[in-house]
Amino acid sequence: MVIVLFGAPGVGKGTQAQLLAQRYGIAHLSTGEAFRQAIEQGSELGAAVQQYVHNGLLVPDELVTAVVEALLASEPYRRDCVLDGFPRTLPQAEALDALLARQGRGVDIVINLVVPEEEIVRRLLLRGRPDDTEQVIRQRLAVYAEQTRPVLDYYARQGKLHSVDGNADIETVHRRIVHVVFQHVPTAPNGPDP
Ligand code: AMP
Repeated sequence: MVIVLFGAPGVGKGTQAQLLAQRYGIAHLSTGEAFRQAIEQGSELGAAVQQYVHNGLLVPDELVTAVVEALLASEPYRRDCVLDGFPRTLPQAEALDALLARQGRGVDIVINLVVPEEEIVRRLLLRGRPDDTEQVIRQRLAVYAEQTRPVLDYYARQGKLHSVDGNADIETVHRRIVHVVFQHVPTAPNGPDP
């Protein structure tokens, strides 16, 4: 089972991906988290991605895709997992399909979390991550609109896209997501309430 959590910055992808992964006992792969860890550790990857992350720009496709490819081939991500923050461009979505196909699997479902823009900005300013200043937030929303939103059509054409209203409390949104996954992925368990 491969579930993609999709949506603009600040819709709650990270929180919901974590809850979903916990509920099903599967892995949670966040490219943003992997980059933040690399930056903190001062690794070579961290140095390569630092300026992009801090300025709210996308890390180049080849670099992100190479990182994801390595992770998806290793434990625990070679098993069932929830992807959060990847893919964010059409080339990334195509690369993901190709590399999952080589492993004999594919994306089962894409959950598009939908939250109004005023609420997104409010949430991001509350979160207070280093890349959550008003200027960088605006930059990330613009990048989402230009480069990431087109990925929705890609998955809609594959019949894998399901939108979920993310403008509610964490538990309510979680239940909505589980309901949609349970309905559309034959192998998905309903799972215990967290
Ligand atoms: P996130 O934690 O998903 O909000 O990601 C934080 C930052 O990491 C983004 O603003 C980008 O700079 C970078 N990033 C994360 N995932 C990707 C991706 N799939 N493609 C390009 N850049 C990414």
